[in-house]
Amino acid sequence: MMRRDVRSFDAVVVGGGLAGVAAAQRLATRGHRVALLEKRDRLGGSTALSGGWFALSGTAAQKRAGVGDSDELFLSDMRETGAGYADESLLRALVAGQVHAIGAIDRADAWTDELKVSAGMTVARAHLVRIDALRAHLEAEAVAAGAVILPGRPADRLVVDGGRVIGVEAAGEELSAGSGVVLATGGFSRSRELLDLFVPHQAAAMPYGGVGNTGDGLRMAWMLGAGLADVGHVSGTYGQHAETTDDEHELLTANYLGAILVNTRGERFADESASYKVLGAAVLGQPGRMAFQVFDAVVRARSRPGVPLSDMERLEELGHLVSAPTIAALAAGLGIRPENLERTLAQYNRAVATGSGDAFGRTGLVNGVGALTPIDTPPFFAYAAVTAMTSTFGGLRVAPDAAVERVDGTRIDGLFAAGEVVGGFHGASYMTGTALTKALVFGVIAADTLVAG
Ligand SMILES: Cc1cc2nc3c(=O)[nH]c(=O)nc-3n(C[C@H](O)[C@H](O)[C@H](O)COP(=O)(O)OP(=O)(O)OC[C@H]3O[C@@H](n4cnc5c(N)ncnc54)[C@H](O)[C@@H]3O)c2cc1C
Repeated sequence: MMRRDVRSFDAVVVGGGLAGVAAAQRLATRGHRVALLEKRDRLGGSTALSGGWFALSGTAAQKRAGVGDSDELFLSDMRETGAGYADESLLRALVAGQVHAIGAIDRADAWTDELKVSAGMTVARAHLVRIDALRAHLEAEAVAAGAVILPGRPADRLVVDGGRVIGVEAAGEELSAGSGVVLATGGFSRSRELLDLFVPHQAAAMPYGGVGNTGDGLRMAWMLGAGLADVGHVSGTYGQHAETTDDEHELLTANYLGAILVNTRGERFADESASYKVLGAAVLGQPGRMAFQVFDAVVRARSRPGVPLSDMERLEELGHLVSAPTIAALAAGLGIRPENLERTLAQYNRAVATGSGDAFGRTGLVNGVGALTPIDTPPFFAYAAVTAMTSTFGGLRVAPDAAVERVDGTRIDGLFAAGEVVGGFHGASYMTGTALTKALVFGVIAADTLVAG
């Protein structure tokens, strides 16, 4: 009989994005011998591609800016965004655990001054964090505390004994995990099979996110009877240029700065202040499955160079932002009938001027917040964008302490999950910045639960 190699650890973390690194750091600094397996040859996953926005309430930055936020308001905004589908106990655990995210960002000295209102928020709660600095700092802390990082090592399956998860098998080697395993394998945005299974209506969204995010952790836990949450609500994000590459994203949400969205007929089709996930679904129903962000010089001046989602300079350099001196010329360049676009803008500007009667009920820049301005100052601009499956916010069902639960609600002993592999937090839609906050906070919570035994 062939002898199988076994390496012994107290804990094994699968996946080297933010959730995995946060869990490994916490486990190692709490004295656990931990191994972190990463499928690709370097850590990062979707985290490394992300904009770096964190949703946090009651921060020093908000106080300095005079933003009146609170944990209760954060909770009620998330409830509203999730349209009643989000799991209240997970939302409460997220809000209570923010302290872990704030502490890590402090230690890494990774804050920037950028603070804004974004999708799903009623106040400025999106904090821009230098995500690479944060990841590098957590990894360095983990390694300094003795964590063993193993890139290029995809986990293949969970090892179970008497109903308890006791380790992981990776490339023929078994890594035993005396206290348990943390799944932090990210979502399934790169798995055509799982996207077709859960959200066939989103099939036309451009696959995106970390290249290794093929739902491996979800399948491994599923094989042990894990329950799922929110998977049917998964939606792509609107705002990405169709020619973007795998390793760099090109998202713009000029609509949150005052642009409108029009289809190839020059017609609006949605309230542009809605979540970019809601808009993502709406754009998939438009001709050619794309939409133009159309705006004027006033909105153009609101660009924030270097700030993800608001950086128009970079898109201009890439030649992806087009401009023209008149609406008619802009329309002609886009292949839209000029009279259609002129009519659409005249109707929109009339609704803005009178403060009522918008055809799609738009009342603010983003999520009903922020004063609208007419689109009438030349030159005029357009950015052509599609819906990209950047993240899949549905996944494994977990308890507030990050233990993975079976379909019947019982816990799978020795198995924890954190980050995008987990569902239940977002419900029907997604508030900007909650994916990164969730990854960091629940990476720490999973580690603490595992240590507590
Ligand atoms: C373009 C873009 C912009 C975004 N911007 C934001 C933002 O500003 N704010 C926000 O909150 N969210 C944002 N998101 C979403 C957010 O980045 C992710 O939800 C979050 O980073 C997920 O972290 P994670 O640690 O769970 O997963 P990831 O960071 O994706 O890490 C998972 C890791 O697990 C590895 N893995 C997978 N399977 C295996 C296996 N079998 N064995 C070993 N390793 C495995 C993967 O290779 C990957 O490295 C964005 C996403 C994208 C794509």
